[in-house]
Amino acid sequence: MKIRMLLCAEHINPVFFRAVSDGKAIGTVFSPTEIAFQGQVLKPIDHKLILGERFKIGYSGNQWHIEYLSDIDRHRRHEQAAKNVAEQEANAKADQEKSLAFWAQYDIPIAFVVEIKEVLSGLQVNGNGCGMKRNTVTHIYCLSDFSDKRLVRSANTFLCSPVKARYGGDWTGTLGEGLTVPYVPIISCKECLKKMEKWKIGKSYIKQ
Ligand SMILES: [Zn+2]
Repeated sequence: MKIRMLLCAEHINPVFFRAVSDGKAIGTVFSPTEIAFQGQVLKPIDHKLILGERFKIGYSGNQWHIEYLSDIDRHRRHEQAAKNVAEQEANAKADQEKSLAFWAQYDIPIAFVVEIKEVLSGLQVNGNGCGMKRNTVTHIYCLSDFSDKRLVRSANTFLCSPVKARYGGDWTGTLGEGLTVPYVPIISCKECLKKMEKWKIGKSYIKQ
């Protein structure tokens, strides 16, 4: 809130004027009825000042005013928080769209989940919603036995390797970073992607 102030002198001290113009006229309230800055005294209109509050003097609409720095800070914090949420939601939306476009390309004939190969420190599957790091490598983890002529996998192996492996955790339903839009992460492991080629819709692979 801007508190309107009356400048109690005809003459404006140039040092005071420069400080206000530079946005550097910052002081502390020592009296409930007036403030003094660089030898200039201002009185609040219709207001009692709050002792000890830090204030900043401004001038707009032919009117001097002060704002409490605590209010300005609170306002900035709110603005920043709102911006962060909007950014996260936009990121999550973009991730979701990317995911939908990615998975629409494939018809995958096996039961699988999307996995990372290890849980890095600080990464938790059921974490607080900050989601997976964008550079995490994701794989297809087979949940059932599978074989065609050239590719044999048993359950609990990664598509990119026939070795039985424990996995880091199921990322299939990972929440996007914005907390609002769930999506299946796209596969980023190059070897998994190579093996998935044959399951691209439009390829000649025949389901078993
Ligand atoms: Zn892989």
